[in-house]
Amino acid sequence: MKTDLPLVADLHTHTLASGHAYSTVQEMILTAREKGLEVLALTEHGPAMPGSCHLYYFGNMRVIPRQWNGVFVLRGVEANIIDYQGNVDLKPRYLKKLDIVWAGLHAPCLEPGTVEENTAALTGALCNPFVCGITHPGNPKFPVDEEKIAEVAAREGKMLEINNSSFLVREGSFDRCLQIAHFCRRYKTIVCVNSDAHIARDVGNFQQAWQIVQQAQIPEDQVLNTSMEKVLSFFNIIDDWIN
Ligand SMILES: [Zn+2]
Ligand SMILES: [Zn+2]
Repeated sequence: MKTDLPLVADLHTHTLASGHAYSTVQEMILTAREKGLEVLALTEHGPAMPGSCHLYYFGNMRVIPRQWNGVFVLRGVEANIIDYQGNVDLKPRYLKKLDIVWAGLHAPCLEPGTVEENTAALTGALCNPFVCGITHPGNPKFPVDEEKIAEVAAREGKMLEINNSSFLVREGSFDRCLQIAHFCRRYKTIVCVNSDAHIARDVGNFQQAWQIVQQAQIPEDQVLNTSMEKVLSFFNIIDDWIN
C-alpha cells in the first residue's frame, strides 16, 4: 500500500509511550516500511502532556536503532510550549540528545491566549536553537498571526508543519492551514507534511495535507520531506546514513 505522493519521510508520529496513542515502535516502523517510507521520526509528547513519557524516556532514546527494518529512525519529541514566551517542557540537556525537536501548542499544557500571546509563544519557540519547527500552527484553538510566524520561521531557518491529523481532530483547520501555506510560499518558509499518527495505520497518511501544499502552489523542493537526503542534511545526521 505504497503512497503515491512524493513524500519519503513521516517526521511526526506517536507510539504507546505518549499515553493516548495505540501502537508500538515496531508496529509504526513496519507500517512505514509497508507504505514505502524511508524515514520515520518518533516524536512523543513532552512530559507536560498528561499521561506522556517520563524524562527518562527521552534520555534513553539511543537504544532505538538508527535503522530498523530498512527504515531510518529519528529520535525526537513534540515538546509542549508551556508559556507565552515560547518555553518548552524539556531542558536543553535532554533536547540536545535528540535528532528532532518539534514544539507545539496543546490545550492541556497551555491555555489558549490572545492572537498576540499565541503568536509570541510560537515565535519564542521558533527562536529556541533546539526547535526545528512548529507542529499544527493552524490549530483554530490557538489563533495566531499567520504571516508573522511564516516570516519568523523563514528568518530562523525553521519549519512549519502541515499536519494531516488536524483535519480530523482540530476542527476548522483547513482554511487556517491553507492561509499559512500561502504565507510559507511567499516567505519561502520550509514546510513539512506529517501524519501526526497516533496509531500505526495512520503512519504516512498525508493526503489532505498534501492537497494544501498543492492548492498553495508550494514547490516540491520547499517541502522538507520529499527527499531523504534533504531530511538527513537538515538534521545534521547525513553521516549516519552514509556510514
Ligand atoms: Zn500536537
Ligand atoms: Zn503530535
